[in-house]
Amino acid sequence: MSECVFCKIVAKELPSDVVYEDDAIIAFRDINPVAPVHILVIPKRHIKSLQDTEPQDEQLLGALLSVARKVASEQGLEGYRVATNIGKDGGQVIEHLHFHVIGGRPLAELPSLG
Ligand code: AMP
Ligand code: ZN
Repeated sequence: MSECVFCKIVAKELPSDVVYEDDAIIAFRDINPVAPVHILVIPKRHIKSLQDTEPQDEQLLGALLSVARKVASEQGLEGYRVATNIGKDGGQVIEHLHFHVIGGRPLAELPSLG
């Protein structure tokens, strides 16, 4: 059995509040939301992070962003943030690729990149 928490959610071995599901993708509410709407969009296939995707995953990556847009619309969000953390220094805790969809309150600007 996989030890990955998100693989367990995909396998329905752990409960989750699912808002979208198809053959390749599932989206569910974050257990520790940082905003009124906080949804995670993940591939059903275990991929460690964006950095571990390959050229043949381009279609899947596009579909993940498309689902992010769709669930944001369904939640009534107009302004929101889509983010993916990569690796320890990127703040990634769960090593299964996921896109955070966060909104429902004004979000702080990202720190200056300059
Ligand atoms: P990250 O820091 O990008 O790896 O984010 C992982 C996210 O997964 C965090 O926002 C957690 O609150 C969330 N999380 C962890 N376990 C669960 C779970 N069982 N169900 C839903 N969300 C979870
Ligand atoms: Zn996994």
